[in-house]
Formats: sequence, structure tokens, C-alpha cells
Amino acid sequence: MDAKELTKTLIGYNTVSVLSNVEVMDYLTGTLESVDCEVERVEYTDSAGVLKVNLIGRKGRDTGERGLAFLGHIDTVPAIGWSANPFEARIADGKMYGRGSCDMKGSVACMIEVASRYSASQLDAPLYVVITADEEVGYFGASAVVEKSQMFKQHGFPQYGVVGEPTELHTVYAHKGAVRFSVAAHGRAAHSSTGEGDNANLKLIPFLSEMRDIYQELTTNAQYFNAEFSPPCTDWNITISDGECAANITSPLSVCNINYRPMPGDDAQVWINRARESAERHGLTLDMLIDADPVRTPPDAEIIRAGLEITGESTPQTVAYGTDATVFAPHMETVIIGPGSILQAHTVDEWMALDQFDYAVSIFSQFVDRFCV
Ligand SMILES: [Zn+2]
Repeated sequence: MDAKELTKTLIGYNTVSVLSNVEVMDYLTGTLESVDCEVERVEYTDSAGVLKVNLIGRKGRDTGERGLAFLGHIDTVPAIGWSANPFEARIADGKMYGRGSCDMKGSVACMIEVASRYSASQLDAPLYVVITADEEVGYFGASAVVEKSQMFKQHGFPQYGVVGEPTELHTVYAHKGAVRFSVAAHGRAAHSSTGEGDNANLKLIPFLSEMRDIYQELTTNAQYFNAEFSPPCTDWNITISDGECAANITSPLSVCNINYRPMPGDDAQVWINRARESAERHGLTLDMLIDADPVRTPPDAEIIRAGLEITGESTPQTVAYGTDATVFAPHMETVIIGPGSILQAHTVDEWMALDQFDYAVSIFSQFVDRFCV
């Protein structure tokens, strides 16, 4: 099993989150079985009615140990404006280009290459490769795995988890959470000269003003800062849209989206409730889109110390972006470490440096040696 070749094949499947991933998961079922994994498929239908598949591959002797899981996702963000076909891997200048090369098909391929390198009889504790759907849009695949996996019900959750998101193979122990909600104001379209319309933007303004107050509190009051992170505060990012309504039409619909990244120890509900109460007071309704907790594995936990020893680093890091660890970390001791840089993830002409593949296979193998062999 060669991780680079497998990554090229995986890039060839368009697995943008909104699409069905059945085809690529059928292919990966065969791949996991070809490296002697027992495979469980965990399926669900997403909110748009699209069938999604998650895979859990398991390998190793039954010794009662709970073992180690490599955790990755197969969905990607959309690919618009690329200079070449984003779903055809291309190698140039020591880089592999293609949507998902870095985030995170390359990492998933490295996990499977590592699994292929051990025979089941060598593994005294089980090794799992978990491949999820819908990470990019709200961790829904990981949630389905946690709720529905028969394999985890039977054997218990793995003791340790390695989330292989791009960290350039630095050991990461914590990240911010992800809360996203939408507030809509409804009006009535009319020619603005007639006075017959009802402008939705006007209804949103008092709410926006209160959201700006929260933004200012969260980003300027040091009481809400956490020095473990850079930046040390949340974003409380406010976007508004009335669908580019023409200036001589009263806007019939105005929508505000807010993205909030709670940090470990924050009481996120305080701010969410404040936004909800403000919306209600102004006759608006709030729709929660994503509500994912922050992650913090104690820096002296065994999986974090293992990461530091394997990579030769002295201190673990934090990152500002979210991962499936938000769902898995409550069930297993979790580290985030994987090939590629977050600076290339989600970009036009996304790439991963070729040397990251071999480095990741080496690092992941050392986790297996330490926790499974
Ligand atoms: Zn990712």
C-alpha cells in the first residue's frame, strides 16, 4: 500500500461535503479489507436527504485492550476557481496538488499505509482507521459514528485517538469550538418609491447593534481571553446578507450569520442565550447550525507526551480551527497531529508537500508501535 498512490486515487473522487460519498467509501471498504481490516459501515441520511457513509476499519488480536484509532475525514470543501481540474491529482515542484490532498485525503492514505504495515498478530491492542463524512460542515459523520457504531459498542471506544488533520506533524492538544447560528428578518419587497414595502434590513439593525456589543466584549475584555490560543479570543464573526437586493427595492429578507469559537473553559451558553434573547426581543428567530465544543486534552496526558516524544518537540501546541476531535475527544484520549499545513487547506490549488507523506507514515507508525504492538 502506497500512501501517495492512494491519495491520487482518492482525489479523483469528488467528495465535496454536499455530495453522496457512497462511491469513495465503497472503494475504501475494499482498500481497508485488502489490508486485513474488519470493516464496519455507519450510514446516515444528511439534512438534505443525501446518504452518507462512515467507515471503521479494525485490525489486531482480541486481548481486551481498547487500542488506538486514527481518525480522518473524506469530505472536502468545494473547489472553485482552480487553475486545473481539482479532482485530478497533479505532482509538480515536490507537491501534490488536488482538492483534499492536504485536508485530508493524504493523511487518510498515510493511516491506511500504516495499517497495511502490521499483521493482525503483531497488534496486541486493536488499531482502528476511522474515516468520516461531513467534517467540513459540522462533524455529522463523527457524531453518527459515536452514536451508532456497533464495533465501538461491542469493544468499547478506543483508548487513544489520533486526529490526522494538517498540523505539519506538530503535536496539538487543544482547539477552539465551533458555534454557528443564523438569524433572519422577514419583510416585503416593493418599489422603494411607493412606500408599500417593508424593509427587512431595518428589522435586523437593532439585533446587529447588540451583536456588536457582544463582539466588543469578547474581543477586548481580557477576562474572556485564553493565553493558550493565538489569537487569545474568539471571533464572533458577523456576516449579513440581503441577497444583494437592489437599492430601489425594499429588502424582503435579511440574514445575519454569526460564527463563534468558544475556548476550553468558556461558558458558551451565556453568549448563545444572549443572542437568542436579543433575537426574540426584536421579533426574529435564531437557527442553530453548528454547536461544537472546544477540545483540550491535558498537555501531560499520555497521548500528548507520546506525540512530543515521537516528534522530538518540547511543548504541544493549540490551533484555532476545529476538527472531528470535538466529537471524539469526550470518548478517547485525543491528540491532533497530521501531515500538511493548514495554510494550504481549503485554498484554490490546494497542495501537500510530498515529503510530508513519508514523515506522516513514520510518525503514525511510531504511535502504533507505542500503543498497539
Ligand atoms: Zn480537515
